[in-house]
Amino acid sequence: MTTIAHQLCLVHDRIHAACRAAGRDPAGVRLLAVSKTFGADAVIEAIAAGQRAFGENYIAEGVEKIAELRRWQDAETARTGVAAPTLEWHCIGPIQSNKTRLVAENFDWVQSLDRLKIAERLSEQRPPDLPPLQVCLQVNIDGGANKSGLAPENALALAQQVARLPRLVLRGLMAIPEPSADFAAACAVHARTKALFDQLNASGLLPAPLDTLSMGMTGDLDAAVQAGSTMVRVGTAIFGGRGVKA
Ligand SMILES: *Cc1c(COP(=O)(O)O)cnc(C)c1O
Repeated sequence: MTTIAHQLCLVHDRIHAACRAAGRDPAGVRLLAVSKTFGADAVIEAIAAGQRAFGENYIAEGVEKIAELRRWQDAETARTGVAAPTLEWHCIGPIQSNKTRLVAENFDWVQSLDRLKIAERLSEQRPPDLPPLQVCLQVNIDGGANKSGLAPENALALAQQVARLPRLVLRGLMAIPEPSADFAAACAVHARTKALFDQLNASGLLPAPLDTLSMGMTGDLDAAVQAGSTMVRVGTAIFGGRGVKA
């Protein structure tokens, strides 16, 4: 087994253990492999181990990797005569207005949406031959001053506006709280995002229920699963440390 395949197994074990502890079905927690700063070769190793959904923070890097993987998929399909696995690419980093077209044309999901203007541009620029872009609103749940994400009290209003955009499908919320000192503190902050998620679904003001609560990374995925996460975004525990860039 490659190291990445082995690490993926360990992460799945962690998710299963966290689900057991929380009395949850592991089928209710998806794993997003965060491949930022790692090359296409690392992604291909993860694909060989069964991983299909990947997250990228930096738009230019992500778009280049997606193109590389498309060439790899075409070559694999030609070589084996069997369709290469379909991948799902999630944009999880900040998006400037001048990058929306690249995102709309290349990604399947955007989890880092926190402004209407960006949402409108993504909807306008989503190519008609692609399925609608799946989106989550990023919420700044613990109020960090320099952090991306919208204030929790503004989430319902933006959710209603985004839900009306024709080429977006609103799927849920994403949050990146500061690392907590201990498990209980981490659970408490994730529970606030879960409460907001439940509140939006109970509002009766959205056209369809939200089904995705994206929270939990290498350091806090167990607490996030305890609090109700349906998607954990894991980089370091799968691909290794990233050095200084991120
Ligand atoms: C980098 C990143 C992750 C993964 O973090 P790890 O600690 O390496 O697991 C998850 N979510 C977002 C938004 C990130 O930027």
